[in-house]
Amino acid sequence: MTARPAKEPVNKALKDKPAGICDECVAEGFPAFRDALGFFVLTNIAGKWLTVSRKDFDALKAGKAKANSALGKKLRERGMFPGRVDREALVAAYREKNRHLFAGPNLHIVIVTLRCNQQCAYCHASRRRMDERRYDMTLDTARKVADTIFETTSPSITIEFQGGEPVANWPALKFIVEYAQKKNATAGKQLNFSLVTNLSLLDKAKTKFLLDNGVLLCTSLDGPADLHRANRTFSGGDSYDDTIRRMERINAEYKKRGYDTMLYHVDALMTTTRASLGRARDIVDEYLSRGIKVLHLRPLNPMGFAQKTWQRIGYSDAEFLAFYRDTLDYVIERNLKGDEIQERMSAIFLTKILTERDPNFLDLRSPCGAGIGQLAYNHDGMIFTCDEGRMVHQMGDDIFALGKAGETPYREIVSHETVKAIGVASCLDCLPRCAECAYRPYCGACPVVNYMEQGDIFGQRARSSRCAIYIGVLDYLFRRLHKADKDVLNIFSKWVTFRQR
Ligand code: SF4
Ligand code: SF4
Repeated sequence: MTARPAKEPVNKALKDKPAGICDECVAEGFPAFRDALGFFVLTNIAGKWLTVSRKDFDALKAGKAKANSALGKKLRERGMFPGRVDREALVAAYREKNRHLFAGPNLHIVIVTLRCNQQCAYCHASRRRMDERRYDMTLDTARKVADTIFETTSPSITIEFQGGEPVANWPALKFIVEYAQKKNATAGKQLNFSLVTNLSLLDKAKTKFLLDNGVLLCTSLDGPADLHRANRTFSGGDSYDDTIRRMERINAEYKKRGYDTMLYHVDALMTTTRASLGRARDIVDEYLSRGIKVLHLRPLNPMGFAQKTWQRIGYSDAEFLAFYRDTLDYVIERNLKGDEIQERMSAIFLTKILTERDPNFLDLRSPCGAGIGQLAYNHDGMIFTCDEGRMVHQMGDDIFALGKAGETPYREIVSHETVKAIGVASCLDCLPRCAECAYRPYCGACPVVNYMEQGDIFGQRARSSRCAIYIGVLDYLFRRLHKADKDVLNIFSKWVTFRQR
């Protein structure tokens, strides 16, 4: 397996990082800390936090901070004053934040086909040509996949269709939606569907079926026309015009049906390529002009075609972070002017930082969701830890395979040795650096990306692109929180407000 090229040898943010905190200190209630921002970020295992000056930190460290001082009071309120921690309350808060660990996989990603009519420069899925029908899921396999999904112990199930372009195998997609609903009449789970699609194959009848059956839609929009077209070549026409036209038509249909369009609309995902760098304002303006309220700035993954095209479309972690900060600055600037748009990675982190809830984003939790929060089903029924594990299989390596629908019993799938290994490799409490990192309560490690970048599911944090990016993003957010600008805090509080669909 070729490692991701263009990778800096060592993650600088970590190289400069002073010691964090050891287990004994945690047991005594001493918060973990980060000292790299001109102030200290203090956190505890339940995600409570406080930013303090060096003077206050030194007093705390030397045991000179008084429990009834202003600092002592703030720390006690957050369960972070050494020796004065209410352990039962801390355990309850920790349990609540990690409640998703008490249920089985709820996200089930189904690849109904690998065929696609677009040829994106970064395709992580290793798409196949439209005439290669052997990469379609048969109805027999679709039934076995749905049967396996319903064996989950989770009270809620989300079936997410991915590809290729899933609509290219409409019979399997439609079958699974209808069959799952039928099964759910007796199973009584909270059942959701979502479809990740380039929209291009959706005619009136298919759109009606999806909306009638509550299938949520998510497409790709990489930015303004030139950027989107450069990333996403479409044999059937203009990828940008086609996406926008169809997105607007579907959004108009939601409106016509009287749905709350804040909650019901076509979501969009943006993938960052080298061509995106320096285009922060254009991308945000494009999203705003289309009425899209959530922008998810996603870095490239070292998988699928992206690995082959890396020299042309890739960038360093530092370049991505500079782009991310510019974009977030502009997102905040536009919000301050009255526009409504949020960045998703920041919104996920802020939800963990500012609320008692954890949004259970499967790549940002510990352990990650592989096999215990999600499963991915390939077109031939093979089951993987997650979609990224399935992408590695498409590159010729079966390390993340767990079995086959209709053949492997559910118990064997979820207790597979690979699931256990990934659980350990993504449990931040056990990982060097993460175990003592102040950002541990908000963060996650990805064994698949580690494997692709470093040839080892554990990897070293100092060489991990994910770690470098998460540190950079969390540093940005804590700088903003420390500055405590009232208007910016108001914007952040809107981003973490949860509304049930
Ligand atoms: S991966 Fe996250 S928790 Fe681990 S060292 Fe990096 S920022 Fe900290
Ligand atoms: S291994 Fe990586 S991609 Fe797979 S669930 Fe874990 S964090 Fe997500």
